Amino acid sequence: MTETRTELRKLNDMSDGRTRIMDTVLRDSHQSLIATRMRTADMLELTDLLDKVGYWSLEVWGGATFDACLRFLKEDPWERLKTLRKALPNTRLQMLLRGQNLVGYRHYSDDVVEKFVSRSAKHGIDVFRIFDALNDTRNIEVAMRSVKEAKAIAEACICYTTSPVHTHEGFAEMATKLVNMGADTICIKDMAGLLTPDAAHDLIGKIREKVDIPIHLHSHDSSGLASMSYMKAIEAGANIIDTGISSMASGTSQPPTESMVAAFKGTKYDTGLDLSLLADIAEKVREIRKKYKRFESEFTGINPRTLVVQIPGGMISNLANQLKEQNALDKMNEVFDEIPRVRKDMGYPPLVTPSSQVVGTQATLNVLMGERYKVITSETRNYFKGLYGKPPGEVNDYAMKKAIGDEEPITCRPADLLEPELDKIARKNDDKLKTIEDMLSYAIFPVVAMEFFEQREAGTLEPESLEMPEDLLGSSGNASPAPHLSPSEFNVTVHGETFHIKVAGAGHQVDGKRPFFLKVDDRLEEVMLESLTEVVPSTAGEIEGDSMARSFRPRAKQEGDVTTPVPGKVISVKVAVGDKVEEGDTVLTVEAMKMENEVHAPISGEVKKIMIKVGDSVNPDETLIEIE
Ligand code: MN
Repeated sequence: MTETRTELRKLNDMSDGRTRIMDTVLRDSHQSLIATRMRTADMLELTDLLDKVGYWSLEVWGGATFDACLRFLKEDPWERLKTLRKALPNTRLQMLLRGQNLVGYRHYSDDVVEKFVSRSAKHGIDVFRIFDALNDTRNIEVAMRSVKEAKAIAEACICYTTSPVHTHEGFAEMATKLVNMGADTICIKDMAGLLTPDAAHDLIGKIREKVDIPIHLHSHDSSGLASMSYMKAIEAGANIIDTGISSMASGTSQPPTESMVAAFKGTKYDTGLDLSLLADIAEKVREIRKKYKRFESEFTGINPRTLVVQIPGGMISNLANQLKEQNALDKMNEVFDEIPRVRKDMGYPPLVTPSSQVVGTQATLNVLMGERYKVITSETRNYFKGLYGKPPGEVNDYAMKKAIGDEEPITCRPADLLEPELDKIARKNDDKLKTIEDMLSYAIFPVVAMEFFEQREAGTLEPESLEMPEDLLGSSGNASPAPHLSPSEFNVTVHGETFHIKVAGAGHQVDGKRPFFLKVDDRLEEVMLESLTEVVPSTAGEIEGDSMARSFRPRAKQEGDVTTPVPGKVISVKVAVGDKVEEGDTVLTVEAMKMENEVHAPISGEVKKIMIKVGDSVNPDETLIEIE
């Protein structure tokens, strides 16, 4: 470890009362505004300038960046970290760690947590912001201890939320507990931008009375209040605030860095940062952001409704993307209404990954199914089993019963139930896993990581396209998809011969290819269109005409036809032809919206036919398995 690194891992004295800034442009800002899509190459355009600013830290890793790197950008997240470390030698690098969930969506075993932290520290993380979605401190114990062992800075989090079971006194008590656990700094993580200026002042004041370590405030400007809350929090004794450079700020992102710097200028809270240098960075980021236009969503502006629905910034844009995939964007408002109800049923968990996904997906299913808890995700079931930790308040009996029946929830630390995982992965001896970092990526995202490694091996890694989607039939690309593809009937002349073509229907996109069913002079033809720029229109329903076969599988007709409640990808098939099943048995699981959904047998009987395999994309109207 270099001298500089040791320096960066020392906590500086903050008794001068000046405000310190963490800029989130390389993590939360683009996670909240452009679905975590900023690429390392674009980050490197900024690092020279960023390294000159004198931020307290730069948030560069963790949260969704790890997943997005592997899944969409086809970048190795560890390589990104090493690259940024080199490019930012003078600035503390910070990451967001979801406690025992690391950068994923479930609890990992302690050996994975320990190794992940030590490798992250080795490759450049100086400050680990560690939280647990339920504020269950048992879930951050191991991560905290590992950070201390790595001699990095442990920033322990309180996830801020409002509910009948959360109080500022309770949060202040939690802060004391975190200090006793070894926290170097305390972070108030207001992921949904719920803090009002008055609440911020009161909360920070109450915590300041109890603890004397630096207090770091993280908020989102979703409700337009964050900059005011920051001001009041600083006045009440907070030391560090999270901001994003202005051209990647506001709305569901953090308040603008320059505005906060300007607000404190000349006061005893002066940040000392150079506004003209920040302006240069903002200009570059403005240009870079243009490339990511297709990931901009209409839900990233200021919307004080977040004060009611309590949805974190990143979740709103993800939810919008997910509903778009389900072709149900019109249900957004219903889902917004259902989220607080599900949250109440679950004992008021703060909404942050992964609890935000658990609540969000269950609420989405409750709306899409037209009946509450008709379909229960595995994650909802695990939540009620206590596998995420202790819910903050009482859970609803009906929802609990629907989820786990008469089963008793666990009471121990959830990770105590997990066997060590790394040895098992090492023993697989898979030559695609080259390094310990590969093994960690694999431990956290087995399917996505393995796909990444295979493509890396084959030399076919390619990031998803930045092109705006435009339909393949020739209408020009537009941010809002045209209601109809036009024309759906036309004449084509090839080598002097004219054919009458009518678009009869289209199948679903699989591996970048999508079948279209065309009537050519009244004879039905299947044409496979493969886009070179990933621009295949999303659903079959858009095509006008007498809709022909919409997929390769038959439509469900019989009562024994097994169908998926949501479009998704098959991740396991639990039965074989000839198996006897009981009504309600799980016959396959489908991943949708990053959640596992169990699909149950609609009747008791024998499995006659299986039309799917692991990895297939499936849709609700298709027969996946036949039971008789
Ligand atoms: Mn955030």
